[in-house]
Amino acid sequence: MSVVTRFAPSPTGYLHIGGARTALYSWLYARRHGGRFVLRIEDTDRERSTPQAVQAIVDGMAWLGLDADAPPEYQTQRFDRYQAVIDTLLTAGEAYRCYCTKQELEAMREAQRARGEKPRYDGRCRERSQPREGVPPVIRFKNPTEGDTLIPDAVKGDIRISNGELDDLIIARSDGTPTYNFCVVVDDLDMGITHVIRGDDHVNNTPRQINIFRTLVALGVGAAEAAPIYAHVPMILGADGKRLSKRHGAVGVMAYREAGYLPDALLNYLVRLGWSHGDQEIFTREQMIELFDLEHVHGGAATFDPDKLDWVNAEHIKAADADYLGEQLTWQLEHRGLDPAAGPAPAAVADILRERCKTLSEMADKAAFFYREVEAYDAKAVKKHWKEQSPALLGDVRNRLAALEAWQAESLHEVVQAVAAQNDVGMGKVAQPIRIALTGSAVSPPIDQTLAVMGREATLARIDAALAHFSATAG
Ligand code: GLU
Repeated sequence: MSVVTRFAPSPTGYLHIGGARTALYSWLYARRHGGRFVLRIEDTDRERSTPQAVQAIVDGMAWLGLDADAPPEYQTQRFDRYQAVIDTLLTAGEAYRCYCTKQELEAMREAQRARGEKPRYDGRCRERSQPREGVPPVIRFKNPTEGDTLIPDAVKGDIRISNGELDDLIIARSDGTPTYNFCVVVDDLDMGITHVIRGDDHVNNTPRQINIFRTLVALGVGAAEAAPIYAHVPMILGADGKRLSKRHGAVGVMAYREAGYLPDALLNYLVRLGWSHGDQEIFTREQMIELFDLEHVHGGAATFDPDKLDWVNAEHIKAADADYLGEQLTWQLEHRGLDPAAGPAPAAVADILRERCKTLSEMADKAAFFYREVEAYDAKAVKKHWKEQSPALLGDVRNRLAALEAWQAESLHEVVQAVAAQNDVGMGKVAQPIRIALTGSAVSPPIDQTLAVMGREATLARIDAALAHFSATAG
């Protein structure tokens, strides 16, 4: 059996962290088994679904690199199919029109409550053959009344539900539109889904879906022979034990891009949030595909830990390919209005910063000085590090740099060292004025690396500008 999984978001908001993890697990499972991965947009709730949300999902999936094997399926484009399946069920006597009015249903529930029973539809229209004047009917599925429904759940183990607890689900509303639980089943059937991996908030829907699925299989609707295997993945909670929401900063995944997380790092963090492989924490995308399984998905809720995400991200930044990191830094620089062409190659800059950044956004902040002229010198840094002898020391550095043959970290380091030694001062007395000249502040990566990456022309220009500035202000 070739594996087919799907991610089936309702486009009512961003692609959030929980959704991204479900998508990841489904995608990994398909990739692991050489199967297919389907993206299905469950947009039948027209009031809550928006094209912007569809776009956010598509963009989020693309950024994460969770590629589907076909263009997205949209439920709103499948209404004819749902209608045809409803007709089949009606003809076969597996579904029926229900003419109960609101008042009647309310009275039914009242009576059940009064008897201490769980309110449920009692199936009275199963036997009603005559339409009721003026009441547009809904259509209900005839759920089995006897026996149990077994949910073979790959995460939670088998779950058994007595059919007596389920009532006859409405599969089409009085205006004829099909309902959510019904569409899911027809889709899973038509799309050949073998493994439904989704949040465990859907566990309660599953026995109903399985019963509809079985009936459709028995009627020969679609090619499937059996219901899919289910894997219900526990919720993600915030540190306060409440379901992850905006309050925890759990906004859309694209906000994580902006905040400077690498897609593979976010996926790595998410894969561990509910799955483990021994005590390994860092996984490449390839390793995730190679190792992911449903057996090691945890049954208990997971807690979102932003510090751990930062740590995982930092590890991925350290290990990333320099050119790739350069591309990511380029995006960050452009995103904050800087021109990556106005300074050194971003890959080179990323390379000297990668060991000291948790996020690419932090990296871009630290890299920004390379890409914009120094507009002002930080007063505190100047007060602390710009001394009387600084212009002379910096002038000496400048002349040596101008004459330097090989512009590389080692020889640059030697220049700073030589100037310090000759003037009998510590390295800092030389390095800090250089930093002020290059960055406007007293903070930069190691001075030799900074000079190496900045290049001769820009370095000399900035030193000249600083010398001119301070000689003018000193006067
Ligand atoms: N559309 C559902 C949701 O966004 C998912 C349904 C499913 O995976 O079966 O919660």
